[in-house]
Amino acid sequence: MSAAISEGVGKVRRPELSHKIDIEVSVNDAILLASDEGVLTALDDRTLRIWLRRQSGKYWPSVCYTLESAPSALYYHEASRRLFCGCDSGLLHEFSVAEDYNKITLVCTYLGHQTRIHAVYFSPINDLLLSVCREKKFNWYSTKSSDENHQYILGSYTLASWGMSITMDELSRQCFVGDSNGTIYFLKLDADNKYQSHTTLKGHTGSVQNLLWDPDAAWLFSGSFDTSVVVWDVGANQGLAVELNGHSDRLVGISYDKSCKILLTCSADGHIGVWPMNVKRNETPKWVESDSCQICHLPFFWNIHAMWVQKQIGLRQHHCRKCGHAVCDKCSQTRTALPLLGYETVQRVCNDCVRTLRNDETIPLASFYDARQGTIKMDYNQVKKIMMTIGTDRTIKIWDMSSVV
Ligand SMILES: [Zn+2]
Ligand SMILES: [Zn+2]
Repeated sequence: MSAAISEGVGKVRRPELSHKIDIEVSVNDAILLASDEGVLTALDDRTLRIWLRRQSGKYWPSVCYTLESAPSALYYHEASRRLFCGCDSGLLHEFSVAEDYNKITLVCTYLGHQTRIHAVYFSPINDLLLSVCREKKFNWYSTKSSDENHQYILGSYTLASWGMSITMDELSRQCFVGDSNGTIYFLKLDADNKYQSHTTLKGHTGSVQNLLWDPDAAWLFSGSFDTSVVVWDVGANQGLAVELNGHSDRLVGISYDKSCKILLTCSADGHIGVWPMNVKRNETPKWVESDSCQICHLPFFWNIHAMWVQKQIGLRQHHCRKCGHAVCDKCSQTRTALPLLGYETVQRVCNDCVRTLRNDETIPLASFYDARQGTIKMDYNQVKKIMMTIGTDRTIKIWDMSSVV
């Protein structure tokens, strides 16, 4: 009886596993279909498959298309049913997907890459297809079939290392490309599809695995193997970049739900992060370099002169995550989360900052959940509030996120 009473009252807000699809081969990439209950997969056995939810509640493939090499990166434009698929061999195919999902037809093959394609992006407004691959090339193509030789590159740009991720501001034709070294490139394509200028952003120390652009807020989100997500406030023109730290493994997926201003993140260990973005966070302070502790003034171990004069043993230098000051361990004993600076896990804070720390500065903002599978990618549909995680265990999990977003 008591169980019946409490039912519904203390309902826990967390992602609910609604389906699990056993694929039986490794999944390289997958996309959630927006209009129907289905998943498009790029599999390591060289096939493209579309899995549809049947009346039994289970997902079964409606079509299986075999390629000459394993598909490695997908982009699906659902309104036009155009599917772009980069392969391990460097070939980049365009397919047309039948309305009933029972047929995939090859439309065109774009040439110019020789190695595994890591990411593909299609801009229908600009008739442009963008791609990055393992040979450090960022290529762009015309997707207008009326253009002569449109299967050949319109332009190409050489990155410093492997291209990993790609997105675009379609109105300004600004392309954002992330590489395996942690650099993000800005390249603007002019009306003749030549790149005009480029700048780079350096904020990550590991591969930039995901890039996401929100044109309304003019925010660029980048997720990296260095375990952090950076929100680059490109529109404000002040070079503001807020770092979000809460995952303890490589970032493999990010998605932004505009309707409720929530950022969803996923790391390789299967942890899902839910970050409200309607909160004003601040940039983490730059770390100050000093030869002695900025609180007790005792010398750090390389400051031989001061150690000699003061007859002191040299100390290790640490940094307060709140003010960035160089301090010794004794002057920075407190550990606390600093969510307004993007730190959701406990960090070192100096004794000076502890005195002025307000309660609201330490209350967690983000929440984390465990998908219970090693994860390689994530996709999210903001209309249906459904998330998909692709596991290293050859399964795809579909999550109902409606209680957390
Ligand atoms: Zn000190
Ligand atoms: Zn401090």
